[in-house]
Amino acid sequence: MTFDKLGLIQPLLDALRQEGYTKPTPIQEQAIPLLLQGNDILGCAQTGTGKTAAFALPILQLLHSGGSPAPVAGTTSKLKEWFGAKPVATPPPATKRTAKQPLCLILTPTRELAIQIGESFAAYGRNLGIRHTVIFGGVGQKPQTDALQRGVEVVIATPGRLLDLMGQGYVHLEKIEIFVLDEADRMLDMGFIHDVKRVIQKLPTTRQTLFFSATMPPDVSRLANTILTNPRRVEVTPQSTTAEKVQQQLFHVDKGHKRALLVHVLEDASIKSALVFTRTKHGANKVVKDLEKSGITAEAIHGNKSQTARQKALSNFKGGATRVLVATDIAARGIDIDDLGHVINYEIPNIPETYVHRIGRTGRAGASGLAISFCDNGEEKDYLRDIQKLIGKQIPVMREHPFEGAPPPPREVDERGPRNHQRPRQQSSHRSGSSPGHGGGQRSGQGGGGQSQRPTGHGGGQGRSGGGRGPSRGGRGGQGRNSGGGGQRSGGQGGS
Ligand code: AMP
Repeated sequence: MTFDKLGLIQPLLDALRQEGYTKPTPIQEQAIPLLLQGNDILGCAQTGTGKTAAFALPILQLLHSGGSPAPVAGTTSKLKEWFGAKPVATPPPATKRTAKQPLCLILTPTRELAIQIGESFAAYGRNLGIRHTVIFGGVGQKPQTDALQRGVEVVIATPGRLLDLMGQGYVHLEKIEIFVLDEADRMLDMGFIHDVKRVIQKLPTTRQTLFFSATMPPDVSRLANTILTNPRRVEVTPQSTTAEKVQQQLFHVDKGHKRALLVHVLEDASIKSALVFTRTKHGANKVVKDLEKSGITAEAIHGNKSQTARQKALSNFKGGATRVLVATDIAARGIDIDDLGHVINYEIPNIPETYVHRIGRTGRAGASGLAISFCDNGEEKDYLRDIQKLIGKQIPVMREHPFEGAPPPPREVDERGPRNHQRPRQQSSHRSGSSPGHGGGQRSGQGGGGQSQRPTGHGGGQGRSGGGRGPSRGGRGGQGRNSGGGGQRSGGQGGS
């Protein structure tokens, strides 16, 4: 299958060639023709499957050709109309602040995802001249309102800031012809349901609607039923994504040894960069500190960081200045890093779909990837069981690593409380002797019996688990509606 078989126009095919895409991914193959015909879509797909292009390409084509549904010969292009070729129909009425009204709205849960989608529209639409803007909170609104006043055809937004700007009269949705609700499950998890409904109320009832979600729990399904009309269902199962594309490894380890195991794993020089997942923001900061102590460059990305700090961390990581990016699940949504070879689950997520989301950050669009998971002896074993049930396979267990079966190190008081500076006895006893061979290939523990001794002051363990840190603030956390970094999905574990 090639892109031209999907009915895409030449300027889009040219852009795809420039992007280096040679063949459509399964979701693109399924969704593009249906969308070009004007169908509503219920898409069950996660990021990493090529989902963005699956909706961005047909949207660009439809807007270019005169809107949804499929272009009919002789239809006046909205763009021609707007750019003044021949104003055939009544132009959109001038409003208080907006010169033009958008024709397509894409609603996303996080600013990272919004930015990512914006970049995709810029890339795929580079030969079409269709204007888009990205709207999200946590930054000044002026550049966003300037773009709206100049006029855009596509608005990509997080719900909170969009409602703000609608309230101020900068955005009007009366002309929306195509509406995309992306990552609907995450949107609901983050407590955006009411905002989403408020936005939907303002949309014209006659429109084409695209609804994407990685999972379809009942509340998501209910929402889909209320906003879609005779949708066609397109699906890319997480199972095939995890099973086929991403190699997976599991390390059983006491939670007190995870930090040392991480350093050990990262001593494999073939890991050029790694995205490490923690359940909490606090946990992410802590892992960064530990890695830095071991001389490994690392930065954290989570909802407590300013937008500027997050973008900077991301660009340092993409540019290779930082080797490890430590992220919470919500902050990592929408992060799109080409060539990300390794994802490390420092903590096993308690929602099985989150595991699939996480490992989908690597092995993208056909590339190979390795996902490494650290599983402790407590509740994480239960989470692991659920994950393996979901993905339909057992994750291969890596044996003979230096911390396999090692007893917990002596407990250390939570790092925010008084510290125990004593060097724990066990540190050297159970991992005796520096290995001469831990520089490479030890990650899998299959390089023979050499037990690596980590030079890091790893003693003391973590003294805490990811859990039990008090109830999640839930919903939006303290981050404002658009932060994308508020309540973590996992009740009782987020918000730290
Ligand atoms: P997404 O699922 O939209 O986040 O896309 C995942 C990644 O795959 C992005 O880096 C895209 O640039 C890339 N991608 C999407 N479609 C294709 C394709 N047909 N061929 C190669 N790469 C693609």
